[in-house]
Amino acid sequence: MKDKYDEMWKKLDLDITAHEALLTVLGQFYDDIYLTQQGRLKGMEYLDFVMSEVHGLRIKELQDAKDEGRKVIGTFCIFVPEELILATNAVCVGLCAGAEAGFDLAERYLPRNTCPLIKSFFGFHLARLCPYMSSCDMVVGETTCDGKKKAYEIFSKFKPTYVMEVPQTKSHEAKALFRSEIVRFKQHLERLTGVTITPEKLSQSIKIVNRRRKALQRLNALRRATPAPISGRDALLINQIAFYDDPLRFAENIEKLCDELSERVNSGQGIVPEGTKRVLISGCPMAIPNWKLPYVVESSGAVIVGEESCIGYRNTRDLVREDGETLDELLDALTERYMKIDCACFTPNEERLDHIVTLARELKVDGVIHYALQFCQPYSIEATRVEERLAEEDIPFLRIETDYSMEDTGALKTRVEAFIETLD
Ligand code: SF4
Ligand code: SF4
Repeated sequence: MKDKYDEMWKKLDLDITAHEALLTVLGQFYDDIYLTQQGRLKGMEYLDFVMSEVHGLRIKELQDAKDEGRKVIGTFCIFVPEELILATNAVCVGLCAGAEAGFDLAERYLPRNTCPLIKSFFGFHLARLCPYMSSCDMVVGETTCDGKKKAYEIFSKFKPTYVMEVPQTKSHEAKALFRSEIVRFKQHLERLTGVTITPEKLSQSIKIVNRRRKALQRLNALRRATPAPISGRDALLINQIAFYDDPLRFAENIEKLCDELSERVNSGQGIVPEGTKRVLISGCPMAIPNWKLPYVVESSGAVIVGEESCIGYRNTRDLVREDGETLDELLDALTERYMKIDCACFTPNEERLDHIVTLARELKVDGVIHYALQFCQPYSIEATRVEERLAEEDIPFLRIETDYSMEDTGALKTRVEAFIETLD
């Protein structure tokens, strides 16, 4: 069947047949996991629409932006300051991928035992399946985990790749290093786009990204209500789409959705019955369409009320101060905010343990499920510290390690069901 965007896919050099097959599978998966839910908010229609056009209208918008002379910049990590990208009038898109596509091609360059998130972005590009990657004028990597930083060296053969150095500690010197990396990135963007970042432009883009964060903070606050007013699957989808859609359009729609959610909370309505076990997911990011664990948890009689993850709280918890006037003050504010990120790549990382406990208490969870992608050393190893800390706090804990395949779904469900049964 001819797709209305076929011409665009050809221009982007996608494998049209494989891409169409991917969209068919994705559409079915989405229907099964999302559209079968009862009592969804009306505001979720916006998310359903964005998802239906995630490989469509949004890509057309990126092409239109490029035709106007704007650049499209892809990122893989929440450490890359989007504010600087927007301040050059470029478009920023998140590129992490959450499906097994193209793994065979990725494994020609990467060891089999590489984290699936890394294999996925490689695989999607090599299999010519990702119109976002194809639209990018540049991708920005970072030296967070070893897997990513070595993979970017190889990936730079396929796509112009810029790498930011992210320190691994929170020392004064480390913060100074990151401040200098922000300046280096700013200069690189200015050269690429031909746009000089002024204090006015940067201040405006700080406000735009903060507005999106504030909308998500409001959503997170509403999720404290009992019974839970929104499913974890829907909340995850909202957090995932935050990386793709236009930030202001996204914020406006999420604000409306929160108004509806607020009415639901005020009238004591929930998406699940009172007494449903409440779970916090903590760990690695879940990129679209990685909905496996949320589906397993929520089809096992529990509801997810929070995600301690980069596609979740870690990305929205802290705002950038808006009171800076000079470029130096604004760059300081960016440094201060980004160095609060508590990724498992840092050592020591006590802040993350504290944040998990605080979140578990605020959200009144019955238990925490720690989720690590297979072969992700930072999160898999840090899970031991999380487990010890939660034991001290008397918070039930389950450790899961999985990948993007569906083969272990049954085994995961057995373990998750057994865990939920133990929660009192
Ligand atoms: S988990 Fe760490 S490396 Fe991954 S996106 Fe988050 S901050 Fe970046
Ligand atoms: S999930 Fe872990 S191994 Fe994979 S890219 Fe993120 S930090 Fe690196």
